[in-house]
Amino acid sequence: MPHVITQACCGDASCVYACPVNCIHPTPDEPDFGIAEMLYIDPSTCVDCGACVSACPVGAIVPGHRLPETAARFADVNAGHYGEPATDEARFPVRAEWRLPMAPITKPARLGGAAPGELRVAIVGSGPSAMYAADELLKHREVKVSVFERLSQPFGLARFGVAPDHESTRSVANLFDEIARHPNITIALNTEIGRDITLDELRRTHHAVLWAGGAPTDRPLAIPGVDLEGVQSATSVVGWYNGHPDFAYSAPDLGTERAVVIGNGNVALDVARIFTADPERLATTSIDQTALAALRGSSIREVVVVARRGPEHAAFTLPELIGLADGPAHVWVDPSELVGVDPDAIDDPTVAAKVSLLHEISQREKPTEPFIRLSFGYTPLEVVGDGRATGVKFVKTGTDQESVIDAGLVLTAVGYRGRAVPGLPFDEAKGTVAHVEGRIVEAGEPIAGLYVTGWIKRGPSGFIGTNKTDSGETVKHLLADAEAGVLPHPGSAAVPV
Ligand SMILES: Cc1cc2nc3c(=O)[nH]c(=O)nc-3n(C[C@H](O)[C@H](O)[C@H](O)COP(=O)(O)OP(=O)(O)OC[C@H]3O[C@@H](n4cnc5c(N)ncnc54)[C@H](O)[C@@H]3O)c2cc1C
Ligand code: SF4
Ligand code: SF4
Repeated sequence: MPHVITQACCGDASCVYACPVNCIHPTPDEPDFGIAEMLYIDPSTCVDCGACVSACPVGAIVPGHRLPETAARFADVNAGHYGEPATDEARFPVRAEWRLPMAPITKPARLGGAAPGELRVAIVGSGPSAMYAADELLKHREVKVSVFERLSQPFGLARFGVAPDHESTRSVANLFDEIARHPNITIALNTEIGRDITLDELRRTHHAVLWAGGAPTDRPLAIPGVDLEGVQSATSVVGWYNGHPDFAYSAPDLGTERAVVIGNGNVALDVARIFTADPERLATTSIDQTALAALRGSSIREVVVVARRGPEHAAFTLPELIGLADGPAHVWVDPSELVGVDPDAIDDPTVAAKVSLLHEISQREKPTEPFIRLSFGYTPLEVVGDGRATGVKFVKTGTDQESVIDAGLVLTAVGYRGRAVPGLPFDEAKGTVAHVEGRIVEAGEPIAGLYVTGWIKRGPSGFIGTNKTDSGETVKHLLADAEAGVLPHPGSAAVPV
């Protein structure tokens, strides 16, 4: 039976390069790569060699005959991506330009041109984008990488964002640990650039500085009542249950029977799942122990995840919905909210599969255990309450029918936005550092020796693995600039840490 990619896929494309028969798509060279919710194995061309399994950093690939029941739907999800074509050529149009070098062996590379004998690169941040950039840079023996991280533990949101019950995804930290063991990299923890060391100091002591500081602020929800007690961002809750030091005092009030989450991306689902999970199961994960103790005493029976638009526009991904539907969580959708939304009338196979699964969930008995209700088509008007939140007033989108969902806890999960970095040009419209393909620019001109990658480069989108291709682009330009001799010549003094 062919191999199957499952929920934990974070899109780093390592399997694409390992596969000897090019049956994993979209590849980074194909147009859908940046928007795909995961990668898919074509079951009719997979030769079951298993090479992709060892290439995957998060254990997302399973031989078909060993698929656990909770992941059984992923066989259809993989096959469904390739459709039911009339001919082999139509089903899998292999084009010469799509053929990648198979399982390339990376030989230690040498920098040419006018590159300095030793190229010192500082990376700010140690999240996925930083670690993938370091990995790419370290393929060149002349490069010495110094990583600076403000927190006491490395790897950014791979450690402090990914939900504790997503253990496969969190295992990407093993890959980053391996990168961190390279002899030409150092990681200075508890070191914030802009507080402990200035950006200018870094520039004076390195040929290039690569900013990989992430996109740290929540998008605000501009409705009355968001300042009431009992309203907070889903991010602060994620930080709290993952032990992020910035959110140690963000404990949500769990002494209420119902919580409302406004927004329905994957982060909203993460929080809803953790709030309704059996604490005994969470106890086997890396969840913060203080958060676990609070969850053991929680009164929450229902988490309503509310989206402004209909189910065909759901922001959560299909793999996450499958994980919710077939995993230990209890989930329910009111069938009346799906009336008129026909999966067969939807062209996009991923969206059609999501809607179809939502219909299936809506036919289940309404759970009696703590559960998640996915709700669609309600626009929030205001958080109601007197000093403390007691509910959220919504209007049915596109109508004037108002209703209130009673809730003692309201979480906003409407996305992230990058914060301006002192000393770097900022693109206010995009909420990113201003750049062209990773070269930081001012008035359209590159600033010699300054680069950017990750969420603060492209905005808060994509998965952990998306940062690999993103960082690859930035590093390519950095190395080209080194070879062209256009990087500044720093002094030789090491930066004090
Ligand atoms: C709640 C949440 C859950 C997620 N879950 C998943 C998931 O399950 N699967 C998945 O594939 N993707 C997930 N993602 C997306 C994934 O985490 C991001 O794609 C990825 O972390 C972005 O990487 P980054 O390096 O750009 O930023 P970050 O991971 O945010 O890393 C930035 C790092 O820079 C450090 N830093 C910032 N400023 C400074 C400074 N001045 N000096 C020193 N250090 C600094 C920060 O402390 C941080 O460690 C999730 C995202 C969130 C928010
Ligand atoms: S098992 Fe082999 S042929 Fe099948 S997808 Fe993986 S690498 Fe490709
Ligand atoms: S995480 Fe990477 S290697 Fe694993 S299945 Fe997804 S794209 Fe392939």
